[in-house]
Amino acid sequence: MRATRLVDTGNIQTIDTDMPVCGDGDIVIKVEAAGICGTDRHLYKGEFPAVANTILGHEFSGIVTDAGKSNLKPGMRVTCDPNTWCGVCHQCRKGRVNLCVNNIPTGIARDGGFAEYCAFPAHKAHVLPEELDPLHGAFCEPLACTLHGMDIGNVQAGERVIVIGGGVIGLLAVQIAKLAGAQVMLLTRSEGKQSLALSLGADVVAGTKEEALDCWAEGAELVVECAGVEATVRMAPSITQTGGRIVILGVLPQGQPVSIEPFDLLFREIQMHYSFLNPFTHERAAQMIANAEIDVSPLISRTISLEEVADAIANDAPNNEVRAIAVP
Ligand code: NAP
Repeated sequence: MRATRLVDTGNIQTIDTDMPVCGDGDIVIKVEAAGICGTDRHLYKGEFPAVANTILGHEFSGIVTDAGKSNLKPGMRVTCDPNTWCGVCHQCRKGRVNLCVNNIPTGIARDGGFAEYCAFPAHKAHVLPEELDPLHGAFCEPLACTLHGMDIGNVQAGERVIVIGGGVIGLLAVQIAKLAGAQVMLLTRSEGKQSLALSLGADVVAGTKEEALDCWAEGAELVVECAGVEATVRMAPSITQTGGRIVILGVLPQGQPVSIEPFDLLFREIQMHYSFLNPFTHERAAQMIANAEIDVSPLISRTISLEEVADAIANDAPNNEVRAIAVP
């Protein structure tokens, strides 16, 4: 079969490789859709640790071809939760499974979804409906991560929420906040992504902190950082109301410091939280995608073949691209 392997840092290739083996506890799927995420680009550049020679792709779904010893059936459509917690480390035993010290992420530490076929643990498969657009299954993983962040932010009906960053995570956060009954602003630089946010339900958009404060002088009760850059993390307190909360979903490069003023956070009692991965949120995400509660079609900027995946990961996303989906 064809698959895209990260041979090593800076060396990614789409090559012929053996069909995956259905290991003990595994299933095999024929991949229908696999999203290219910013993390894939971080892995390529060596900014995020990966196991050498791994087939990348951690946002994917497909059709079961070998159900192994599971209760699934060949022909079922499933989405893969890529994070395989050990269940026995001290974090897992406290229920903090996303902090598992032995996590084996599919598409990072074991072969993933940029391939015609993929084997992964059966207990990490979540069933999707037969009639679902096959491309939509690739959004369960980013939605599951965003749900965790919004759970931490404890978004309340009637509150004002500012989401920073108009990529997939930000545009999913906008929709979750709207479903929760909040008033939502998206702050992102690109006018294309601002228009998209308005079409997805955002009440108002801004391109800068000044534009945001012109609209909402006090800022928002909840600010959700989904850009993953130093400037926007630094900006977050200045657009947060006194007594408000901030959730950082964006990933900054390891070692990147950000200047914040603890006096301001303390004096205004602003809670600053971080959100990592998708603990127990993948099933909810799969349900929301299955029920079309979240509109993901407009987030698909282009579909590409497996032969184009290596180039797409090795280069920055084109301007205004939200998500490229590989269709093996
Ligand atoms: P993305 O496509 O790169 O989106 C980030 C967006 O931020 C860009 O579209 C960009 O839009 C906007 N942006 C960049 N600099 C900005 C600035 N100075 N001011 C305002 N907007 C700015 O990434 P994504 O896939 O949506 O992911 C977002 C972040 O979440 C990434 O850091 C990713 O690694 C992280 N992530 C975290 C988790 C987790 O578990 N915590 C899970 C998945 C992803 P413009 O074109 O408008 O500038």
